[in-house]
Amino acid sequence: MKRFNVAVLPGDGIGPEIVGEALKVMKAVGKKFSTEFVAAEALVGGASIDAYGKPLTDEVLKLALGSDAVLLGAVGGPKWEGLDYSIRPERALLALRKELGLFANLRPAKIYDELIDASTLKPEVIEGVDLLVVRELTGGLYFGTPKGVEKLPDGTERGVNTMVYTTPEIERIARVGFEVARKRGKKLCSVDKANVLETTELWRKVVINVGKEYPDVELSHMYVDNCSMQLIRNPRQFDVIVTENTFGDILSDEASMLTGSIGMLPSASIGSDKNRAMYEPIHGSAPDIAGKGIANPIATILSAAMMLKYSFDMNEASDLIEGAVERVLARGFRTADIMQPGKTRVSCVEMGAAVLKELGN
Ligand code: NAD
Repeated sequence: MKRFNVAVLPGDGIGPEIVGEALKVMKAVGKKFSTEFVAAEALVGGASIDAYGKPLTDEVLKLALGSDAVLLGAVGGPKWEGLDYSIRPERALLALRKELGLFANLRPAKIYDELIDASTLKPEVIEGVDLLVVRELTGGLYFGTPKGVEKLPDGTERGVNTMVYTTPEIERIARVGFEVARKRGKKLCSVDKANVLETTELWRKVVINVGKEYPDVELSHMYVDNCSMQLIRNPRQFDVIVTENTFGDILSDEASMLTGSIGMLPSASIGSDKNRAMYEPIHGSAPDIAGKGIANPIATILSAAMMLKYSFDMNEASDLIEGAVERVLARGFRTADIMQPGKTRVSCVEMGAAVLKELGN
């Protein structure tokens, strides 16, 4: 029997509801593969502020650092919006990412045939889309120095941000891109603006060098402006996209909206250390529907599937979960957010149960 320790941080709003269903699915799949997931649950975000006065306690950070992976629901809500930024629920996520050394954000965007109408794009454009954006998370414009706004002698102001990347920073994110591509369709598109920005000229050079270690992965390059067009013109051409922080922020949101359904999209944040990773849905805590039992747990269930693939090398188990989700949709089960005429409306718990049933439970 294999064992993995998972820190489970449900957070706020719909967090506890959706994480509860994902945990059931993980445990059921674990049994099939003689693997035990030992879940240690703890408070984070607003729930932690209410109990301990801060969004992330040292104990919970220690728990996350000592686990094989973290499963997170979502944090935040109107109750904590008036608080100072330094103790807002979202601070917990930033602190966790920093302390766990998570420099790569993985966001898949997959179109389910059954939900093709949820997209704003034409079905013939998005049918079969299955891509993943790897975004660098800790460097580039958002962190580079010098930064800030200064007053000039003539009374005007000057704002500065700096896009900085070093060779090691590019190498490590490129490696994530290649490794992820290896687990998928073996195609990697590196996105830069090497025709204008020297930083990304270096980016391209380093990615090409790292690519020599991955002859089985087909590497291509694309300028970011072209990529933003290609994502809506012909998104099927992409398997894995790897890009720097700011470009990735924008492109991953654009890619996720190809699908049109926020309750379906998982994400992973990973680092160099195999035992440090955090998995969470891309949506927030949805305070408007919290406690009503109608949240869609699929994004969180698919986040758990990503955990199995990327943290525990359980590809087959991960595919099993994805297959079960597809079949549940094909059977016509829908939570309120993805409801369509003629389909069967189910609650959060019922959706979880439907996935479990597909897994033979
Ligand atoms: P949100 O993603 O929580 O909700 C946007 C809309 O989508 C809402 O109408 C909500 O009901 C719906 N929705 C989201 N997830 C759903 C699901 N699984 N099933 C069904 N419907 C779903 O974004 P928001 O309303 O802008 O933010 C609410 C709170 O969440 C804020 O406090 C925000 O700061 C926080 N937030 C947290 C994270 C995170 O924890 N990673 C991310 C984004 C927002």
